[in-house]
Amino acid sequence: MILAWHQLAAGATAVAVVAWLLRSRWTHTHPRAALVLWQITGLTLIVATIGALLGFGLAPFNRGLLPALFLLPARVGELDVWHFAAVAAGLTLAGWLVVNQVLCLRSTARARARHRLLLQLVARPAPDALEVDHPIAVAYCLPGRTPRIVVSAGARRLLTDTELDAVLAHERAHARERHHLVVAPFQALRRLLPGSALLTRVVATIELLVEMCADDRAARTHGREPLASALERFHAHGVAGTPAGALAVADTPVQARIRRLREPQRSAFPAMWPAACLVVLTALGTSASLFAVPL
Ligand SMILES: [Zn+2]
Repeated sequence: MILAWHQLAAGATAVAVVAWLLRSRWTHTHPRAALVLWQITGLTLIVATIGALLGFGLAPFNRGLLPALFLLPARVGELDVWHFAAVAAGLTLAGWLVVNQVLCLRSTARARARHRLLLQLVARPAPDALEVDHPIAVAYCLPGRTPRIVVSAGARRLLTDTELDAVLAHERAHARERHHLVVAPFQALRRLLPGSALLTRVVATIELLVEMCADDRAARTHGREPLASALERFHAHGVAGTPAGALAVADTPVQARIRRLREPQRSAFPAMWPAACLVVLTALGTSASLFAVPL
């Protein structure tokens, strides 16, 4: 049972950090640091949840989690109904998460491949991006091994040259920093539990932070105002739906991003961040190592 309690403690630590992240205001000032903490906290929560279920279920074997799992086929009959249910829940959850992640990655990759093919047919290469001759104003990054930055003729008409440069820098930041890989695990979890309001909020938070990271990168080279006014124009003209698997310039709460670009907060880097990272990493390390400890 000691393994299950350790895993529960690691899980509780991760939940506390999630609650702190959802409440914090500094995350908009330091989105990159917030994303790092979100990623390790999310991983900790998953490992600890599976570990707690298996730790409780396999407790009668008095072994580490992995050694006990190897014993399971031969000694499953020794488990009572509660321990058996916990083991089944832990293994099902682990399998479910892996399969769901693989299916999500595969369906997204297929959607992107279809989209790339479509772009080969309808888009013409311009010096700064692929251009689609369509009146709707849209700009997006289609991620992948060879990312594509796409801009519509409508967006070129809508934006000034300076604004367009800032928007394209934003999209290039998505491609360069591989933001699709940051959001993918969280989006896959949302697909697993589409009715979860908390998960929907978490995914929206992650997506907004990713947009802010790209905004910051674009603002560093092109200034804050061109990107803010471009977002304002996109917003005023309505945003077209983003193709599946793409990251668009103005899909996430635009007002918060415009406000942030125009009125940047100078709040100091949170002193709690290194401590929170250390605590969560310790919880993750403990949680993961308990799988292999031979008791
Ligand atoms: Zn974006």
